[in-house]
Amino acid sequence: MRPIKILSISAFLLIVSVGSLGAEEQFSGERALQNIATQLAYGAREPGNVAAKQNTLRYIQQTLETHSNQVTSQTFEAHGLKGTNIWASFVNHKTTGNTGRIMLGAHWDTRPRSDQETSPTKQKMPTPGANDGASGVAVLLELARIFAANPPPVTLDLVFFDLEDMGNINNLPFSIGSREFISRNPFYRPSAGVILDMVCDKNLSIPKELYSKTQAPKLLNRIWAIAKAQNATAFRDKDGSYIQDDHIPFLEAGIPTVDLIHYPFPSYWHTSEDTLDKCSSQSLQQVGNVISSLVYGVP
Ligand SMILES: [Zn+2]
Repeated sequence: MRPIKILSISAFLLIVSVGSLGAEEQFSGERALQNIATQLAYGAREPGNVAAKQNTLRYIQQTLETHSNQVTSQTFEAHGLKGTNIWASFVNHKTTGNTGRIMLGAHWDTRPRSDQETSPTKQKMPTPGANDGASGVAVLLELARIFAANPPPVTLDLVFFDLEDMGNINNLPFSIGSREFISRNPFYRPSAGVILDMVCDKNLSIPKELYSKTQAPKLLNRIWAIAKAQNATAFRDKDGSYIQDDHIPFLEAGIPTVDLIHYPFPSYWHTSEDTLDKCSSQSLQQVGNVISSLVYGVP
């Protein structure tokens, strides 16, 4: 009986938090969890696994195309690697140019090595990337569905970055795709950005990442105020660390961007254990609800 009781309380909170929206227009943590499973079924999304990357790319593109008529893929070559960023827009025609425009981003690639493993054999294997990669993508794809069902009052861009997780492999940097996106789209400078990375853990812990806190304090405080009002306890009212992630090129371009990332990193981070069973639909739900309120302006 207990789980049913908990479910009904969370359903009530959901209704309170998004006002008069119908069920189909609300973020579903369950659907987001399913989006993670779909990505995992393609295999590791890393440069050595061409088929997995092609299939995942097609899945993300086709899902977005059912919700937006503005979906583009941008291929690039950098550091001797080929990559593809995917960009879907949900334009509100009352907003013009970059003003009042929000970028929501996640990396869709996964790390080609499980270098946090102790066994040398396992270290050479790619990580499955349920949390590290697939979770952020899954939330964005679910948001695309609700943006189509209930157009937001601002223009939204969902950007899926390739080649985030090559950092420190053969001296490569992190966030190759995000950096390419910023340099190849010089006229795209939204007024705010949020990166979602590792957001599905059963004991999700998102403290205030310190580049975000110091360089995008207003946006960060807004997000944490929403989380507090929703009792979204995954958002911790404490400082995290300085983390290299896809928000850095945006911050360097002067765009206030917050990185929502689990910290301290979970024990299975960059190992072969980053699998679906580590994820929780309730954690995804909390993140989806907070981002929904940020976008729709509901307190
Ligand atoms: Zn990673």
